[in-house]
This record gives sequence, structure tokens and C-alpha cells, in this order.
Amino acid sequence: MNIAIIGAGPIGCYAGYLLAKNKHTVSIYENHAQIGLPIQCTGLLTSDFDQFKLPMDSFLVNTFSKVEVYSPKQKLEVKQKEYLVCRNKFDNFFGDLARKAGAKIYLNHSFQRKEGKELVIKDSAKNKEKRISPDVVIAADGPLSPTAKAYGLYHSERENYFGVQALVEGTFDPKVFKAYFGVSVCPELFAWVVPESEHLARVGLGMRKNSRAYFDKFMKEHGFTVKEMQAGTIPVYHPAQKLQKDNCYLLGDAAGFVKATTLGGLVPGLRQAEILADCISNNKDYEKEVKPIAKRLKLHLMVRRMLDKFSDDDWDKLVSYINQPKVQKVFERYTRDNPVPLVSMALLKEPRFLRFVKYLV
Ligand SMILES: Cc1cc2nc3c(=O)[nH]c(=O)nc-3n(C[C@H](O)[C@H](O)[C@H](O)COP(=O)(O)OP(=O)(O)OC[C@H]3O[C@@H](n4cnc5c(N)ncnc54)[C@H](O)[C@@H]3O)c2cc1C
Repeated sequence: MNIAIIGAGPIGCYAGYLLAKNKHTVSIYENHAQIGLPIQCTGLLTSDFDQFKLPMDSFLVNTFSKVEVYSPKQKLEVKQKEYLVCRNKFDNFFGDLARKAGAKIYLNHSFQRKEGKELVIKDSAKNKEKRISPDVVIAADGPLSPTAKAYGLYHSERENYFGVQALVEGTFDPKVFKAYFGVSVCPELFAWVVPESEHLARVGLGMRKNSRAYFDKFMKEHGFTVKEMQAGTIPVYHPAQKLQKDNCYLLGDAAGFVKATTLGGLVPGLRQAEILADCISNNKDYEKEVKPIAKRLKLHLMVRRMLDKFSDDDWDKLVSYINQPKVQKVFERYTRDNPVPLVSMALLKEPRFLRFVKYLV
């Protein structure tokens, strides 16, 4: 089959690699002149990334063994193995995989519009438009997905977060990353301090709006000096978002496949790419096959809606409950990618969590 993928992000390139390996003719169109730039991501991966069995040496920056969680008055430490990657190298790793498997990547090529069955792609280096009519179109063009919009697939109620991040200099424990919760810190998510090394960290936060105001306040309170700024849009998962129409499939951020609790999209997107490649190659129902991931993302969304209603007092109580050894053990056993055991424990097995159930309704 002749397959066009719009967007050479890591998820589009991974799908391109898998499909080219399955002997499809794959063309990937990317509107930027280079893969992986500009960087708009922290690059944290849970150890669930291990499931992909991919070599990490070309893009791994750091490995953490512990997360420190701060609420306004409490602190919690959870042992967790997590990876930090260089997003530029990470994206190029997937671009190279796709190329080596036979996919063609067209840089400076942006999807413009759909005319009947044809897609109009603009080559900005030559300032020329060309028309393509592939058998299959994969929209992997990020949170605002012009391709999903052109196919009438982009759900009108979808929401986005805005992440702001800076590279800062300071003194850090390179084995620990920190997350700060609370209404005055970051009411709709959390702020993070993620060290690359003893002297350099990625510091940021995400909000639906006003992220810059909260970010500036956080930076000032912690005395961080900005070395380099990054910012970007992050989609919020929407359960009613359709993933396929005619010959077009949505993938990664374009599909809104991001955890609403942490805004991590890399692990769910890569898994979704594997499922999509299998569905296209083996004529399976994509919406049906991705249901297990969608179910988890729905649970993340439910937790997000609950956390959105938290007061500072709730954050302190939650952190002190989790600080009990038996609850901590559960938190240490599961990664952030899988909230199922945590939610069932919180709701069913630990009566003190019942305090928060009122926020679920
Ligand atoms: C500040 C911030 C921090 C984040 N931190 C994390 C984190 O720590 N861990 C994590 O898992 N996730 C994180 N995320 C989310 C993560 O970056 C995304 O989930 C991930 O990049 C999704 O990959 P993708 O390939 O679907 O989309 P993208 O990486 O957005 O790639 C889409 C590609 O499509 C291209 N494109 C767009 N429009 C067109 C067009 N018209 N024609 C051609 N090409 C087009 C874009 O240039 C881009 O290269 C963060 C996001 C932000 C903004």
C-alpha cells in the first residue's frame, strides 16, 4: 500500500518504520527543515518505554531512581526508574529507523489542504505545491493536526494545555526529579524540576491558560535563571475523539493520545503506532484495537478532573496518605503510565482516600 504520513515526530516516524518494514511504500511529510527541532518537550519517559525493546544509547541523557513530590506543606519520595531523553536525538533516532526501513522523509513539506481525494503538500524550499493521492493517510502532525481538521475529524471540544519550560543552571541531584503540586504553584497540573546533570535542569509547568505567569512566579521563587526557553501545545485526551475516517487515521498528539495526569504522550503514542501499523497491515479495526490504551487514557482523564478540584489542603492530605509505607509500595510498583491499580486502591482499599471521591462526581 502507498501510505502518506503527515508529521515526522517520533510517533509518525515510528509508524513509518513499522509500515515500511511490512513492505508498504511510506512517504513522511514534515513541515520543518529538520527533524526534532524546535524542542518542545521535557523528554521524561517511564520505564514502560522498555516494552519497545529499542536501544537508547543515542538519545538517553539521564536515568532517575527517585521522584520527590511536594505539596504546599508536605514532601514525599517515591522510588521510580525513569529516563530522560534528548528530544532532538530521540526524534532523529525514529527518523533514521524509518529511513533505514525504506520510508522516504520529505523535509520542508507541509500538508496544506485536502481537495477531494487528493492532499495538497507545499514544498517550501521550492515554493511549489504538489498533489498526492495515497491509499492511506496517517495524521501524525501534532496537537493542532491540520490533517485531522481537513478530514473533519478534529473534535470540536478538544482542549489543549500550554507547556512552558526552561533550561536552567544550578546544583541538582541528578538521580532525582521533583514535582511540585498546589493551587498557587500550578492549579491545573504541576511544576517540574528535571535534572540533566548535577548542574543543568529542565524546569517547567503546564496549564490550560496563564502558564507563563505561573512559570515566572515558580522561577522567581526558586531563584532559577533561564538559560534557554521552550514552549509548546499539549493536547488533553478527549474520549469522543474519532480516530479514523475514510482512509485517514489519527496518531499520537494528533489523536490526543496523551495522559491527562502528566501530559506524557510518548509512551502511549508509540504503543498506538504499533497498533495502527498492525491494523493497516492486517486489515484490523483500529478503533477497536486501540481500546485498551483509550481506556487507560480515560482513567487518567477522570483522575485529572478530580485533581482539578483539589485545594492546597487536599494536596497535603493526599501526599501524607501516600507517605504510608503500604501505599508507597503500590506507588513504587507501578509506573505513571498505568493508573488502574492506584485508582482501585485509592477508591476501594484505602478508606482515607474516600475523602477525594466526592471530586469524581
Ligand atoms: C513543554 C512540553 C513538555 C512535554 N514533556 C513530555 C514528557 O516529559 N514526556 C512525554 O511523554 N511527553 C511530553 N510532552 C508531550 C510530547 O512532546 C508529545 O506527546 C509528543 O511530541 C507527541 O509526538 P507526535 O509525533 O505525536 O507529535 P509531534 O512531536 O508534535 O510531531 C508532529 C510533527 O508534525 C509536524 N507537522 C505539524 N503540522 C504539519 C503539517 N501541516 N505538515 C507537515 N508536518 C506537520 C510538526 O512539525 C512535528 O514535527 C511534552 C510536551 C510539551 C509541549
